[in-house]
Amino acid sequence: MTRHLVVAKSTAPVEEESASDWRWQLRNAVTSVDSLAQSLSLTQAELEGARRAERQGLPIAITPYYLSLASQGDAQCPIRMQCVPTIAEADAAPGDLDDPLGEVAHEVAPHLVQRYPDRVLLLATDRCAVYCRFCTRSRMVGDGGGVASLEQLLPALDYIRAHPEIRDVIVSGGDPLAMATERLERLLSAVRSIPTVETIRLATRVPVTLPMRITDELLRALRPHHPLWVMTHFNHPREVTREARAACERLADAGFPVMNQTVLLRGINDNAEVLETLFRALVRVRVRPYYLLQADPVKGTAHLRTTLDESLAIVGMLQGRLSGIALPKFICDTPGGFGKVPLLPEYVVHREAGRTTLRTFRGREVVYVDPPRGEGDNAASQATRTL
Ligand code: SF4
Repeated sequence: MTRHLVVAKSTAPVEEESASDWRWQLRNAVTSVDSLAQSLSLTQAELEGARRAERQGLPIAITPYYLSLASQGDAQCPIRMQCVPTIAEADAAPGDLDDPLGEVAHEVAPHLVQRYPDRVLLLATDRCAVYCRFCTRSRMVGDGGGVASLEQLLPALDYIRAHPEIRDVIVSGGDPLAMATERLERLLSAVRSIPTVETIRLATRVPVTLPMRITDELLRALRPHHPLWVMTHFNHPREVTREARAACERLADAGFPVMNQTVLLRGINDNAEVLETLFRALVRVRVRPYYLLQADPVKGTAHLRTTLDESLAIVGMLQGRLSGIALPKFICDTPGGFGKVPLLPEYVVHREAGRTTLRTFRGREVVYVDPPRGEGDNAASQATRTL
C-alpha cells in the first residue's frame, strides 16, 4: 500500500493506516478557525469568513482526507473553494433565500419533505463529513440537532405508510452515511418495512469527502435493502481520487446503482473542459452523471453561482462532446420548491406546419419533416388517442 501523508487537525502529519479509518477522519475533522489556519495559509477573506462561520451560519467541518486534496497556497483551488468559508458568505444578493427549495413549507411531518406526489425526502441527520459552502440546506445542517432517533422519525414513517402513492424515499440530511452503521441500518429497516415503498435512495457526499466510509460492514448493512440507489455529488475531477474511485467501484460491485448530481459552481467547475473530464472519470467508475444543477439561490452563495445564461452556454458546449451516458440533464430547481425544470440551449431555429429547423451541436441547420397527417389530425390528437 502506498504510504502517503495526509494533513490532519493536529500539526503532526498522520500515516495513512489510521487515516484510512472513517471514524478517525470524522474525529479529526477540521472544525475551528485555529485548526483551519494550522492546515492552510488562509487569505484575509477566508480568515474573516471562518471567524464568521464559527459564530453564525453554516459551521466548518472538513475531513483531513478532503483537506489533503486542497491546495495550500491557492485560494482559488476548486476543493478549497467548496469547503473553506470566505467573508463573501456575509453578502446578501437579490433573490437569496434561507430555504431556496421551500422545504419548510413542504414539510408534511417532522423531518419529512414532500414536493412531488410519488417521493419524499427524509432528513435523518444534520451532520455531514464536510460542510459544503454552497449547501442548499445550510439553514439546518450542522445546527446541533444531530441524528434523529427512530422515535423522532415515527410520525414521518407513519405518514409514508399512510400514503401508498409514495414509492420512493430519499434518505438525506445532512449526510446519512455520516451516521453510525447500526443507526442507519435500523432506519433503513423501518423504511423497508413499509410495503408500498419501492425504492430507497441514499443522498450522500461521502464517496467524495470520506470515501473510506464505504466499508465491507456498510455494504453488508445496505445489501438487504435493495433496490437502494446511491445519489452522490462529485463537482470536480480532482475529487475523483484513487480512494473515491475505489469507493464507487465497491458500491457498484455490491449492486448499488450510483448516480451523480453536480452543482455548477462559479470558479470551481463552470468550464466545459472541467465538466467533460469529470463526467468521463465518473463513467469510468460506473457512476452515471445524472443531473447538472443550477446552484440554488442560497443566502450568502452569490459569489459561487453562475447566471443561467452562463450555465446554458456551458451546457451547449457539452452537447455532442459526450455520449448520452456521460451527459447529465441540466436542471434548475425552481425557488420556492415548485419542482425541477430541465433546461436546454435553444436548438429549435424555426417551426412551421410539419417542418422544424433544428440547429445541431456543430451549428448546422437541418430541417426535420413530420410524417403526413389528415385534416384535424395532429401530434396532440395522436397522443390523446394512444392514452
Ligand atoms: S454534504 Fe450535502 S447536505 Fe452536507 S453540507 Fe454538503 S451539500 Fe450540504
